Amino acid sequence: MFFHEKTYDIDELARWNLHIHTTFSGCAKREMTARDIVKTADAAGLEMIALTDHNYPDRRNAVAQQRYDLMRELEGFEHNVKVLIGAELSAYGINKFADDIACDNSLDYRLYTTNHFHQKYWEHPEVKTPRAYAEHMLAIMEGVIASGRADCFAHPFMAGYIHVFEDSHDVTRAFRDNEIGDIMEKAHKNEIAWELNVPAIFKDPEFFNRYFRIGKEVGVIFNLGTDGHSLDSVDPKNFTDELKRIL
Ligand SMILES: [Zn+2]
Ligand SMILES: [Zn+2]
Repeated sequence: MFFHEKTYDIDELARWNLHIHTTFSGCAKREMTARDIVKTADAAGLEMIALTDHNYPDRRNAVAQQRYDLMRELEGFEHNVKVLIGAELSAYGINKFADDIACDNSLDYRLYTTNHFHQKYWEHPEVKTPRAYAEHMLAIMEGVIASGRADCFAHPFMAGYIHVFEDSHDVTRAFRDNEIGDIMEKAHKNEIAWELNVPAIFKDPEFFNRYFRIGKEVGVIFNLGTDGHSLDSVDPKNFTDELKRIL
């Protein structure tokens, strides 16, 4: 179980970037080879990074093999930054997981997403209201916590992939403070951290300001991740001024 020290200082959090996609993710730029990511992280003086490629239910357990391929790519390559080889794993419905638990457990870092609603296989709530989506996401998160599979939640509560409403932020507004606090506390007790996902924060500053405040009150662990898809987003320090303004 990966669980690091607690800090709410953005500059300290920016020493780690625990959400980076390599070319194993179709959405990442071709420049995102493991070696060039690590080289960039080293040049930026980062202490730790996590490689977190997507998984898919129709390619069950493929991320375990990818981990070996990435390890091979980095073999004999000297670097100072600590590299976790994990994945951005899918809880695509309530208690629906794309990989076997043994596959998850073979990873250095299990970053769980609960809201990739743009994917065809993702389960939506029966009723299409902002409140129903909020309750559905909470139920998926409950399932992830109970499963013991996760080290951190990727862009939690984010509604950016729900293309049902004119303003998807109606979904994040539908979460009540006490629900956010309760689930954050429950995850924390189960050694699951909460992501400060840079693009999600930039797209919904109002919600993520609230999320960071509640998380600090509860006393959770936050992990910073840029959701890097290109080399210029490997160093979180490029975003810290804006993050401080929002959070
Ligand atoms: Zn994601
Ligand atoms: Zn991602």
